[in-house]
Amino acid sequence: SLTLGIETSCDETGIALYHSEKGLLAHSLYSQVKLHAEYGGVVPELASRDHVRKILPLVRETLDKAQTQPSDITGIAYTRGPGLMGALLSGAAVARSLAFAWQLPAVGVHHMEGHLLAPMLEDTQPEFPFICLLVSGGHSMIIRVDGIGRYRLLGDTLDDAAGEAFDKTAKMLGLGYPGGPEVSKRALQGVSDRYKFPRPMVDRPGLDMSFSGLKTYTLNTWLKAKDENDATEQTQADICRAFEMAVADTLRIKCKRALEQEGLNRLVVSGGVSANREIREQLTALMDKRRGEVFFPRLEFCTDNGAMIAYAGSKRLAAGQSDDLNFACQPRWDLESLTPIDDSVV
Ligand code: ATP
Ligand code: MG
Ligand code: FE
Repeated sequence: SLTLGIETSCDETGIALYHSEKGLLAHSLYSQVKLHAEYGGVVPELASRDHVRKILPLVRETLDKAQTQPSDITGIAYTRGPGLMGALLSGAAVARSLAFAWQLPAVGVHHMEGHLLAPMLEDTQPEFPFICLLVSGGHSMIIRVDGIGRYRLLGDTLDDAAGEAFDKTAKMLGLGYPGGPEVSKRALQGVSDRYKFPRPMVDRPGLDMSFSGLKTYTLNTWLKAKDENDATEQTQADICRAFEMAVADTLRIKCKRALEQEGLNRLVVSGGVSANREIREQLTALMDKRRGEVFFPRLEFCTDNGAMIAYAGSKRLAAGQSDDLNFACQPRWDLESLTPIDDSVV
């Protein structure tokens, strides 16, 4: 079977074709980053309009890349939530219309399930059960995963998401949007022991996280440097380095705790922040030391993409799930409420 995946939850239009035996055939991505950069964040109304313009040309392009026809497609997967309502509706309406016209089943996929399963698109795939650290622009979660649709939330952020903290830090330092890649680029030039930022919540029991304190710490450090006429590029880089180290340390400590608590030794790290080099290194070192396994998506599938939606949708369609014509999007959607898929299908 061949699944067409359509991702439009935020500011990237992602389209992909996933084949149940041959794997990922082709994928295309259009990022609206430039459009939103001048506003310093995503403008929902502009996002929806741009999705409407891009979805069909990208579907055409992806079909061509895979040298396939619409008649080869056996099912359609689209992102039903969580995300921006208008952006979600643009994708869902196109997906549902194509499915109706081509007489195919369509299934609405949970965006975070897409992120969580993204490492399954690689050659070596994690076996269940595992611990997943899901760190993105809107979420920071530690999840016990016992199968597709079997998710138990062990830890969450009490305030900002990890990616949001990167984005806000970049903004405070006058760096571009989105902030994650900018901050980590600067951090490479930073001196690691000039500043030591706090490691939020690590001295408290449990798996919850908090990143808003780090943001305040960054701001105060930057304002002080300005007062002392030391707001240089080097200082900026040193702050980025200290911030990144603090986030990476915190995530490593929480992952270790989750693995110990659940008696597991397999870790999956996904979502946009899993593209971060320092975080990848620290979590790889942790799992080396524990003689466990760690899995990441390839870099381009850490952030939003159509491939992860095509993959998750393909599994759900194979299990016989599909939506009726009366589709609805869910800007908020609890990951724990998803329907588990029978192991025999996976
Ligand atoms: P969600 O998936 O929670 O709905 P989203 O789709 O906006 O949110 P993603 O596309 O998964 O989030 O990831 C985008 C986030 O990842 C941004 O906050 C961005 O700054 C961050 N990010 C991307 N690359 C890096 C990096 N190298 N280091 C740190 N953060 C990064
Ligand atoms: Mg994005
Ligand atoms: Fe995302």
